[in-house]
Amino acid sequence: MNSKISFRAAPSCADDSEPSLLTVVQARSRILDSVTPVTERQRLFLRDALDRVLATEIVSPINVPGHTNSAMDGYALSGNDLPESIPREYRVIGTAYAGAPCEGICESGECIRIMTGAPMPAGTDTVVMQEQTKASGDAQVVMLPGQRPGQNVRQAGEDIAAGNRVLEPGRRLTPADLGILSSLGIGEVSVYRRPRVAFFSTGDELRSIGETLNKGDVYDSNRYSLYGMLKRLDLDVFDLGVIPDKPEALRDAFQSAASMADLVITSGGVSVGEADYVKATLDALGQIGFWKISMKPGRPLAYGSLGKALFFGLPGNPVAVMVTFMQFVEPAIRYLASGQRWQPLVIKARATESIRKRPGRYEFQRGILSHSSDGTLLISGTGQQGSGILTSMSRANCFILLDEQNAGVSEGDLIDVQPF
Ligand code: AMP
Ligand code: MG
Repeated sequence: MNSKISFRAAPSCADDSEPSLLTVVQARSRILDSVTPVTERQRLFLRDALDRVLATEIVSPINVPGHTNSAMDGYALSGNDLPESIPREYRVIGTAYAGAPCEGICESGECIRIMTGAPMPAGTDTVVMQEQTKASGDAQVVMLPGQRPGQNVRQAGEDIAAGNRVLEPGRRLTPADLGILSSLGIGEVSVYRRPRVAFFSTGDELRSIGETLNKGDVYDSNRYSLYGMLKRLDLDVFDLGVIPDKPEALRDAFQSAASMADLVITSGGVSVGEADYVKATLDALGQIGFWKISMKPGRPLAYGSLGKALFFGLPGNPVAVMVTFMQFVEPAIRYLASGQRWQPLVIKARATESIRKRPGRYEFQRGILSHSSDGTLLISGTGQQGSGILTSMSRANCFILLDEQNAGVSEGDLIDVQPF
């Protein structure tokens, strides 16, 4: 939970009606500075721990692999006893399987038939792969020259040595991590509990699916795009529906959201219109930091705290909701969940067309990344970039990042892109 929330208001030189704009980077770092990560833990079986955040470090209790073993099917022998310039015949004195080691001791002129994963028998440190040999009788094999002592052998502990730190707390467990933990014989892990996130839409014009649209009404889409983005982050989510633009109704919704969640997200009602009550409600019930951020889309953002919960009042326009979520809420949620400062991947791609932009605001245009026949990453826009054009988000696979100073892009320029 977030007991000690402190954040500064917009810069003090601001006048009340038009606070000076915050940059995207400033807003993000102020938000992260005010988040206290979840500390409650729970123990989970390995399969249930996928995508959960590890709460303890994992130190390996064993070597992996546990024994020096063969990386190939072939014949094991001593590296001092390999064929020199011509093929040489050896006596095969036994067979070693992955599940059934060979107890024999290999002397000069001898070898042991060995399968992948079988522990190296006594007297051997080298494996000649089967394709480099030819059987020459029941218990005889001829090996070709050109072998290297020590080849085709996996050393005990070469992947993980006993006592090594394998995974750090704060790590979101991947499928590979589940594999590693099971290779250590660890069947249960301690993880942080999932953050709880409550969200609702605000607006008298919003209708839920199944309701009739009257003139001026729109279906509520933000709750669905928010649900999708939250679900991908593996959280406990509470969908509180649509709340009308009525101060009392908002007040009730704010209070019930704050009582159940670590983080509350609303959309709509944060501009300066007659029916925009989110800011005033947050001001009355919690602590407010109302920001105008120098970005497009998504300029107004209400951020603050509501009881013990963090609060994000996102703008109403469907693209602005997704952009502000991905730029501000997602880093906050990841920090809340793990205590780790996460940064999205940013790569460079070559513009296939010019892009108009004036210096001033940071623009998150929607783009489509592809590659040319020679493998160069190419970036093109999705067309109309209005903050109500939700199809631009659906068609996009990345943001085109045009920072405050950017004064437009020419075809062929290398520019920053944030893949989704
Ligand atoms: P607002 O910030 O409340 O003035 O909303 C800005 C624009 O976004 C208006 O055109 C709203 O109708 C639209 N809008 C707000 N919330 C939603 C929503 N949940 N789903 C779809 N459109 C919305
Ligand atoms: Mg509204």
